[in-house]
Amino acid sequence: MKISEKLKQVNTSISFEFFPPKNEEGEKQLFNTIKDLEKLNPTFVSVTYGAGGSTRDRTRNIVKKIHEETSLTVMAHLTCIGHTKKELIEILSDYKNIGIQNILALRGDIPLGQEESEIYKKDGCRFANELVKLIRTEFKDWFSIGVAAYPEGHPESPNLERDILYFKKKVEAGADFAITQMFFDNRYFYEYLNLCEKEGINIPIIPGIMPITNFKQIRKFALMCGATIPEDLVKKLEKVEDKPEEVEKIGIEFATKQCEDLLKHGVKGLHFYTLNKSKATIEIYNNIKHLVK
Ligand code: FAD
Repeated sequence: MKISEKLKQVNTSISFEFFPPKNEEGEKQLFNTIKDLEKLNPTFVSVTYGAGGSTRDRTRNIVKKIHEETSLTVMAHLTCIGHTKKELIEILSDYKNIGIQNILALRGDIPLGQEESEIYKKDGCRFANELVKLIRTEFKDWFSIGVAAYPEGHPESPNLERDILYFKKKVEAGADFAITQMFFDNRYFYEYLNLCEKEGINIPIIPGIMPITNFKQIRKFALMCGATIPEDLVKKLEKVEDKPEEVEKIGIEFATKQCEDLLKHGVKGLHFYTLNKSKATIEIYNNIKHLVK
């Protein structure tokens, strides 16, 4: 079923992101996680794609397996850089043939040290709005299309206002909803929603929640994507950096408070970056479920 339709049917959507594992062991762990999280009755789950096509088959196979072997609605991420339009259409046609109706249309991060001509194929899509347009042109309304949004601005953008104008281009090209980059200070998100509303952007914008379970790893991710980790949280985590259980406890407490505040502000949903693990996400969900309507 299309996510755009499911979002109309629920007050608060709960969803989970996974990445395609590299080996059989990882796949077994992922499907254990999926089994645990399926019990929470999520609106949808999604599977990431390696920019340039590095996980092309793995993403496709995990998406297919979730679609065929679970009760879940699944969305495939697809990045356009490094692909020609012909390749993108091939990938999308295959998804259509196996019954997948949800795509997160992305540009992908620019890989370091690659030739421009490899990154931007001659007959390719340079930005995500072009991929959204390609999907709508070739497949009309078969797919529900999600796009990425950045409450603190995308790191390559000169400023937030410009970034929102580019976000609007994705909406005008036919995106149905957006999922945000992780953020840890809800004030960025609320201000972002205000600015989007002023620009006339009226698709659902679902906040992306990253439970901190490994501080070193998340600090690195946050630095790369320009997400600010509040000073007092950094100080708390630094003190216990080498004690994984304490890091996870603080991470769960923080994400619980963050989600409670978002739910009290009437957000359309919560999208959890699970990193293929279920424990932290389930604990956070159990802490907030009384607020999920
Ligand atoms: P775009 O919307 O194309 O924006 C990219 C940059 O170009 C921005 O700075 C924007 O302001 C600017 N821009 C946009 N349009 C124009 C234009 N027409 N002219 C000039 N400038 C423009 N990456 C992966 O590799 N695989 C994944 O599975 C994946 N999943 C993600 C899921 C979510 C929810 C999010 C938030 C991000 C995800 N990413 C993923 C990361 C994403 O690919 C990167 O952030 C990438 O750098 C930008 O992708 P985008 O689709 O937002 O690009």
